[in-house]
Amino acid sequence: MAISENARAVLEKRYLIRDEKGEPTETVDDLFHRVANAIAAADAAFDPKADVAATASRFYNMMTGLDFLPNSPTLMNAGRPLGQLSACFVLPVGDSMEEIFDAIKNAALIHKSGGGTGFSFSRLRPRGSTVNSTGGVASGPISFMKVFNAATEAVKQGGTRRGANMGILRVDHPDILDFITCKNDTKEITNFNISVGITEKFMQAVENGGSYELVDPATHKVTGTLNAREVFEKIVSSAWQTGEPGIIFLDRLNRDNPCPQQGEIESTNPCGEQPLLPYEACNLGSINLVTHLKEEDGRWVLDKDKLTATIRTAVHFLDNVIEVNKYPLPEIDAMTRSTRKIGLGVMGFADMLLYMGIPYNSDQGVAMAREVMELVNTIGHEESQALAQVRGAFPLFDESTYRNGKPIRNATVTTIAPTGTLSIIAGVSSGVEPVFAYAYIRNVMDNTHLIETNQILKNVLLSRGLYSEELMRKIVEQGSLAHVDGIPEDIKRVFVCAHDVSPIWHVKMQAAFQAYTDNAVSKTVNFPNSATKEEVAEVYTLAYKLGCKGTTIYRDGSRDEQVLNIGKVN
Ligand code: UDP
Repeated sequence: MAISENARAVLEKRYLIRDEKGEPTETVDDLFHRVANAIAAADAAFDPKADVAATASRFYNMMTGLDFLPNSPTLMNAGRPLGQLSACFVLPVGDSMEEIFDAIKNAALIHKSGGGTGFSFSRLRPRGSTVNSTGGVASGPISFMKVFNAATEAVKQGGTRRGANMGILRVDHPDILDFITCKNDTKEITNFNISVGITEKFMQAVENGGSYELVDPATHKVTGTLNAREVFEKIVSSAWQTGEPGIIFLDRLNRDNPCPQQGEIESTNPCGEQPLLPYEACNLGSINLVTHLKEEDGRWVLDKDKLTATIRTAVHFLDNVIEVNKYPLPEIDAMTRSTRKIGLGVMGFADMLLYMGIPYNSDQGVAMAREVMELVNTIGHEESQALAQVRGAFPLFDESTYRNGKPIRNATVTTIAPTGTLSIIAGVSSGVEPVFAYAYIRNVMDNTHLIETNQILKNVLLSRGLYSEELMRKIVEQGSLAHVDGIPEDIKRVFVCAHDVSPIWHVKMQAAFQAYTDNAVSKTVNFPNSATKEEVAEVYTLAYKLGCKGTTIYRDGSRDEQVLNIGKVN
């Protein structure tokens, strides 16, 4: 197995089964057998004569070859008593004490099992409205978000995975201005990502410089009007300051809602890539593009035959996950099995471009994104249709937007996940993001600093006789290759890091993947610290124009606890 020491450490720390003393009772190899066997077992439900062992062996090889990995909860929980295998959930939050605290309890159960939860708080009556039963005054969505946040803090997912939440408020909710700034104190509501739910009507008002109405969700009465451009500027200003809120385009999520009769999509999962109906869950999986390259005449090219085969096996795998999944609530079980959404995506995209010698921030890079994702989406849908012939279409097919086409097994097939942990296990760049840094300092025990170098860059520098510790130190200091002397221009042009990629190219890349993705794309648009609010506004507008389903931005240094830092040698 091509798993690095680093990846092995992650798996051992967080994913292996342990006894009461905390000692692992399985090896990394056992883990992949456990997952492959548990997921392959679903085949027997459709064909008593199915060769389950052969399927298990294909799943095992696909995972240990690092060609594909399912989302973390599947790796942690498949074949174990808990058996909760999905990363993404959306729970409804109704406008009553019972419904609010039911949602908190249900979220705790989901977090305990390694899943993340998204909520729309748009149905809650605004702060200051009357509470009929007590004659008191309602405290509003933001104060309840703090209760959700505290509950998440307390659960901490049994120490393995922090609870993650998405909180959404519609732009026409009367409390929207408080919501926009509710995370400006960066120590508040830390277990939530927040996004403003934007409507087409609002965006049109922004374009025309007009105003729009705020509506109380409890009474449906208009409570006031706001100038759309001013609200847009407030969102931009807050995102510039802290990275939040993000925005999601609600009408676009619902335009692509395959089962509108089941209600509106009001929220996504925590990282924004998976829009879901209330009580719906989705399991994700990501194909590692780096293992789908082959050498041809001394150049790396995409191995489309291998990729096609992996896509088919991955769709089969993800559909089986739904079959054997143990959902934490009966409502989630019923909803999820009736749409059977899966989210197949890719990781290692930036690394793939490095091998191919294509800059991420180029038309050729964007064209590659389209080519890869079109294949994943087309073959993914074909395989889901093939599964439907044997297993039947998803139960809500006849009322779905697919009803006039070929029966299909899954109401959605593709999603681009962040692959925070999966990309570490596979040892590749995460999701469809550019490489963050090519060299950084790792602190090891007794205060020694080790320089870690991106292996693809190291190999290229070695092959051209350019590699030295000294050069790597300069890359660490500057955070990028762009201004380091002694590196040829052709290498600088290809080995661009997240901060060399201008925000506009980040958005173009996101839009290219979105064009061939049923669900949404997890992507952060990185800005340098010096970026202006106008530049942030430009990206939000471009994301809207290019058909993205939402945007998240991050300006370097704008939050105290930054996950990834450009390293400095001290
Ligand atoms: N997620 C979560 N907690 C975490 C990380 C992720 O609940 O600490 C959920 C969340 O819904 C996120 C999804 O898992 O959107 C996918 O995240 P990612 O691809 O980073 O997960 P991985 O499978 O790599 O662990």
